[in-house]
Amino acid sequence: MEQLSLDPESIEGEALWYCLTCRECTFYCPSGINFQRFMMALRDSLLARGHTKFAMFCPICKSYTMPKKEFEYLLKGTDLEKARDLLEVCPQCKKADYVKTLHRTAR
Ligand code: SF4
Repeated sequence: MEQLSLDPESIEGEALWYCLTCRECTFYCPSGINFQRFMMALRDSLLARGHTKFAMFCPICKSYTMPKKEFEYLLKGTDLEKARDLLEVCPQCKKADYVKTLHRTAR
């Protein structure tokens, strides 16, 4: 991104966070541009600069999990309260909790 002299501060907006990182654009791009990776790098850059308005974070470890739009999309049509707990926690914290539960039940 720095090679392109792009200023993330000037493009902060919700549209950037609509990308679901599905890689469809990367798959079909005739020029082989990995646009999905570009979007992720741009978001990382914004997060590093403290732009967290459109991002979701794990309630346990506080790491970035997904855009708020994606979270809302995933919750649509689901049992909200059960799905919210499951979706908010990042994969690493879910795994740690799962392992803790396994050890507790194995005793
Ligand atoms: S990865 Fe590409 S096609 Fe998929 S949502 Fe993001 S920009 Fe759109």
